Amino acid sequence: MMRFLNSYARLPESFYQRIDPEPAAAPALIRLNHGLAARLELDLPDSDADLAAVFTGNRLLAGSEPIAQAYAGHQFGQFVAQLGDGRAHLLGEVENAAGERFDIQLKGSGRTKFSRGGDGRAPLGPVIREYVVSEAMHALGVPTTRALAMAATGQPVFREDELPGAVITRAASGFVRVGTFEYFAARRMEPELRLLADHVIERNHPAARDAENPYTALFESVCAAQAELMARWLCLGFVHGVMNTDNTAVSGETIDYGPCAFLDRYDTEAVFSSIDHLGRYAFNRQPTVMAWNLACLGGCLLPLLDPDEARARATGEAVLDRFIPTFTDRYRRELCRKIGLPPDDEGFALARRLLDLMRRSRADFTNAFRALCDAQTAPAPFTALFATSEEIAVWLDDWLTRLTQTGSAEAARAAMRSANPAYIPRNHRIEQAIQAAMAGDFTPTHRLIEVLAHPYEDQPENAEYAAPPRAGERVTQTFCGT
Ligand code: AMP
Ligand code: MG
Repeated sequence: MMRFLNSYARLPESFYQRIDPEPAAAPALIRLNHGLAARLELDLPDSDADLAAVFTGNRLLAGSEPIAQAYAGHQFGQFVAQLGDGRAHLLGEVENAAGERFDIQLKGSGRTKFSRGGDGRAPLGPVIREYVVSEAMHALGVPTTRALAMAATGQPVFREDELPGAVITRAASGFVRVGTFEYFAARRMEPELRLLADHVIERNHPAARDAENPYTALFESVCAAQAELMARWLCLGFVHGVMNTDNTAVSGETIDYGPCAFLDRYDTEAVFSSIDHLGRYAFNRQPTVMAWNLACLGGCLLPLLDPDEARARATGEAVLDRFIPTFTDRYRRELCRKIGLPPDDEGFALARRLLDLMRRSRADFTNAFRALCDAQTAPAPFTALFATSEEIAVWLDDWLTRLTQTGSAEAARAAMRSANPAYIPRNHRIEQAIQAAMAGDFTPTHRLIEVLAHPYEDQPENAEYAAPPRAGERVTQTFCGT
């Protein structure tokens, strides 16, 4: 039985605008995530027509209280005091019998007072990309907002071209962003800041409640979650593309899939976003950018850390100073797991040597690690991915030596297979799915989602989804699609 709590809507009016979604002209359901709907224990209607009405916002579920959340944010380093949900509606917060709470939000559901010049809508392409990539991230084991449904609006949206419109329904343990804190901090609204921090502690970081200073503990907990998240992104080759502070969730979940992409060949400097001219959000810069974003959060929290400003600063800086070391520790652990070795200096050095060889050979990141899982018995598919056959042979020898020193080779193989996916959402596959969907055929989209639901399994019948793009298929640029 579905239970709406809507704790965010209980916060003061300055946190949001109460506003219903704008009805869509001709709703049509594209996909419902049945597994997630079951976990949320949603009482949903049966027919596709009724579901389409729910997942475009034409019909509200009983208990929902739609709001558009206010937030600010640093976009490419520039502070923007007023952003907010310009095309999203938080329908409410549900709690299941296990006590798990989720916020449910429509995106692409029409204008709000935060829309500025925008139309409040989303084109079909970015909706498909967000659905595919966020669900793939979940299946890969990465904290992320989830995709509950997508539905077509039956209305065109006008960008450079006329495009079909759609709405994605997302679920998350919270949609509070670093930019939400910045919204109140910039306005010097300290009581609201404290209410927001209390809300986030209650919802996302409950262990902080019992600390001597819960707000310091909150900051520590957010930093730890983000350190873990950055390690996961880097070990899977994920490039978020637009790590503005308004796209950084304090829950530690990956949020706002815009011009995101997965690496195919390993390139530490990779940038896909068409608007990231300076490479601010390049692949290997992501942990540093996150440190920057967390420094923004720390600045907002200062008045809560200590009444004395100098002491507050010292406390905040001490927390922040631990971010990169924590990230490095998580990264070392995850990277060593990928090569089946304990996370000691030797394992880390071997892993980094491998990455360097991959970078110089422009080897396919995902396939190289997956092939390494079997390289003890079948080295050829692995070494074939490298241009430098002698160097990789030496590396392989050193790795095998270390592997036999550190434990059971068979156990290492099993562990490696659960750390190195065979399937990631490859950019060219997403692009192909979007192109087909725009022509009315959703089969490739559904098939892609289904393959990516089991990324660590061998799926011989879907082997083509593991293949890197051919020369003409390579996608080098992605777009925000706003
Ligand atoms: P994003 O680039 O999607 O993270 O969005 C940045 C800001 O622009 C947020 O405040 C969004 O709500 C707003 N925004 C993006 N696209 C639209 C749109 N089509 N209509 C209204 N607001 C939008
Ligand atoms: Mg955003």
